[in-house]
Amino acid sequence: MNLYTRCNSCKKDIRIKSSAPTRPELQMEKGEEFQVNCQNCGKIEKKHINDIKAEPNNKIILVGIGIGVLVTIILWNYFGAIGTVSVAIPILLWQQQMSATKTFNSYMIRRK
Ligand SMILES: [Zn+2]
Repeated sequence: MNLYTRCNSCKKDIRIKSSAPTRPELQMEKGEEFQVNCQNCGKIEKKHINDIKAEPNNKIILVGIGIGVLVTIILWNYFGAIGTVSVAIPILLWQQQMSATKTFNSYMIRRK
């Protein structure tokens, strides 16, 4: 899962460097408002915790597909068709990413 917010001046996405899995945890890490530095136009902006959005990390899913294919090939040699169960690896990773993203995005911090 990646965290990002949108730059107000150039409308580009700004990546948030954090591994917080939920919004309250991100708030504990960064505070209710924190500064972000746009990599594109260099502007420093103050963002509210609710302006942060999560998106699935496609890299993890791609790695999962790679592992899934590899494990399938190895298992195929030993067990034949049963080896194809490992195609579930990228599917499970994808589901995990989607649900983590949904949890993060649907939980809003109450604004004071
Ligand atoms: Zn910008």
